[in-house]
Amino acid sequence: MVKAQEFNANRLKTVFESIGAHGYVGGSSSGNNGMKRLTYENGDRAPSMEMVELGAKRTKNVLVLMSDTGGGHRASAEAIRDAFKIEFGDQYKIFIKDVWKEYAGWPLNDMENQYKFMVKHVQLWNVAFHSTSPRWIHNAYLAAFAAFYTKEVEAGLMEYKPDIIISVHPLMQHIPLWVLKWQGLDKKVIFVTVITDLNTCHRTWFHPGVDRCYCPSEEVAQRALLDDLDKSQLRVFGLPIRPSFARAVLNKDELRAELEMDPNLPTVLLMGGGEGMGPVKKTAKALGEALVDKETGKAFGQMVIICGRNKSLASSLQSLEWKIPVKVRGFEKQMQKWMGACDCIITKAGPGTIAEALIRGLPLILNDYIPGQEKGNVPYVVNNGAGVFTRSSRETARIVARWFSCNADEHKRMAEHALKLAQPEAVFDIVRDIHELARQRGPLIDSPYILTSSFSSLL
Ligand code: UDP
Repeated sequence: MVKAQEFNANRLKTVFESIGAHGYVGGSSSGNNGMKRLTYENGDRAPSMEMVELGAKRTKNVLVLMSDTGGGHRASAEAIRDAFKIEFGDQYKIFIKDVWKEYAGWPLNDMENQYKFMVKHVQLWNVAFHSTSPRWIHNAYLAAFAAFYTKEVEAGLMEYKPDIIISVHPLMQHIPLWVLKWQGLDKKVIFVTVITDLNTCHRTWFHPGVDRCYCPSEEVAQRALLDDLDKSQLRVFGLPIRPSFARAVLNKDELRAELEMDPNLPTVLLMGGGEGMGPVKKTAKALGEALVDKETGKAFGQMVIICGRNKSLASSLQSLEWKIPVKVRGFEKQMQKWMGACDCIITKAGPGTIAEALIRGLPLILNDYIPGQEKGNVPYVVNNGAGVFTRSSRETARIVARWFSCNADEHKRMAEHALKLAQPEAVFDIVRDIHELARQRGPLIDSPYILTSSFSSLL
């Protein structure tokens, strides 16, 4: 019995070390085997020895693989992190990382800039998206990168020692799954994909080796089945949206006061994803004219323009003179507040922005889409009656002016359809399902990395 306790203490020490808790901190004894509480590198306290007993669950490491190609992958990653925290407290430690950027070499470590360049030259992106669609093509180039960067990717994974890997990026299935297999960790580490495109997603999202593939819509699930995923691997819950959208009770009047907006004027939100893409400036100018009463010269609407990371767009809009109240903002961290303060939204067909706007009940005017992955988002919104699509800035401005002056009914109807389409609970369904997967794998008191390396030396 005593032996078992000693053995267990040793094993727990190794577990603590494996999850990033280094050394014993000073202070008084914990009263259990003379051991003291540990701290993680970020200062968080590790579970005490009293809390972690034989058979009890240890904190599990979750590595969320993403890249800042657009703003949607990070937003989904943060949504998953926040939902884990709300649902399971300290049971999981979440790392959101672009492991390619941190560890691999070119071109994997430079995906943000390559993506930005390609979507600016949209035909280039169109060709890249469709020409890499056949499985033999993307398998071949991803296998080449995996072989070339095996050591680097392995080092990246070992840094975070994940019990669970969640990929929220289309280029982050094949390489980590192959590397895990080569390391003999594929059966020990849970690997799931959370797809962040609503409809016409790229086929690299689908890898039959995943434990789960979370699809935001039935359309995506159908595509997964065609790409050899089994029905049992699929779950359709919706796109993961940050709980601050789903759970917050937001009062429009209070938000407008907080954001220093006119309390009475109806408000249109204009944006273009995380990078401030699409015809934002042209549309802003058209709205600046259309929301002025021709007879009185008075504004009957106001506008919020969120430029994301597009600094030159923000500064050029700030230098313009406006006849209506306008707020020009850069990258905003509290999108739920801006959406909560507005009455409708104009945006390119980014899935993250669409799903957030639906939760807030904002009718959408889609004014652009990135070819390939965003094309299918347009019928998703329009056919469900939650918005319209037009590339014409003038037409966009006319629609908003109509909603804000004489056609409130159409606006109201679309707002109702938007709310019907919203899936605010999706992110919680996803993390609960992942938790269930982890539970089925067993108590996981050992880290998979201990079993393959240092833990074996204790036996
Ligand atoms: N976003 C944000 N702050 C900004 C602009 C955008 O948090 O200033 C978020 C937005 O709320 C959404 C994401 O970035 O969650 C954009 O994702 P989407 O899929 O719409 O487009 P992407 O930028 O990925 O092309």
